Amino acid sequence: MEKGEKMTLHDQHVHSKYSVDSDEALINYIQIASDKGCKYFVTTEHFDLDLVEHHEDWTVDYSALKQELKNYCKLFPNMEFLLGIEVGYRKDKLAQIEEQLSSETFDVINLSIHDSKNADFYWYKYFKKYGEKKLLNQYFDIMIEATSNFEHYNVLSHIDYGFKTVYLQNKNIKMSEFEDKLKVIFKNLIARGKALEINTKVQEAIDNIEHTQYILSLYKNLGGTRITLSSDAHIRERYLSSFNIYKDLIKECGFDYLVYFVKQKEYHYAI
Ligand SMILES: [Zn+2]
Ligand SMILES: [Zn+2]
Repeated sequence: MEKGEKMTLHDQHVHSKYSVDSDEALINYIQIASDKGCKYFVTTEHFDLDLVEHHEDWTVDYSALKQELKNYCKLFPNMEFLLGIEVGYRKDKLAQIEEQLSSETFDVINLSIHDSKNADFYWYKYFKKYGEKKLLNQYFDIMIEATSNFEHYNVLSHIDYGFKTVYLQNKNIKMSEFEDKLKVIFKNLIARGKALEINTKVQEAIDNIEHTQYILSLYKNLGGTRITLSSDAHIRERYLSSFNIYKDLIKECGFDYLVYFVKQKEYHYAI
């Protein structure tokens, strides 16, 4: 592995108008990335099949996205434009997921657990229906299953996405209540060379530094070294959001680099 370079971090979890739930124009993010001196630019648009809330498929028009990026290559000759995706894991959709992931040359693939066949972990009403602890256990079990059996990704996104939904309603709940499951997930990531994402959108929502420290320390104690820092921006104002705060926290927890991916090959940013 090459030694980490001290460079401006780029954001590796971003949604633009090519995602169903964002209206943001690519150029608005690219302009910020260029102004900040980022060498790379990537969006990771949503690919989620049969989302339980409305039984919708969220897919991406990659030919239009690639065409638009191609035009910006000339306007921003100092920047490298990458292709990414955030794929929502669903065991019952693996064939279609694999087909999508193989149909483009992705630089980075973020793997997410957004829903199961019967619950969407973004919406508290499902936790109310099935029980907070019961559904969170199911959420982490799906993550164990995904990280045990599925290989076609680089980064596990927002490990605390479902947890956040419950936490915002019940501040007494702690990630440590699921430590046995988290350990299995982290061991899977470490054994397979996958990275763990610190998602600043979720951290800002939870707004509890001890929560983020707990995740980082548990991962580190099990031997984890690969971390990405990402905003999950859906609007330009959140692009690269709180990167300095969480970069410092990651460093304090004993990590001295962050990882990024080009053609799914791992590189490092020194921090
Ligand atoms: Zn997500
Ligand atoms: Zn996302």
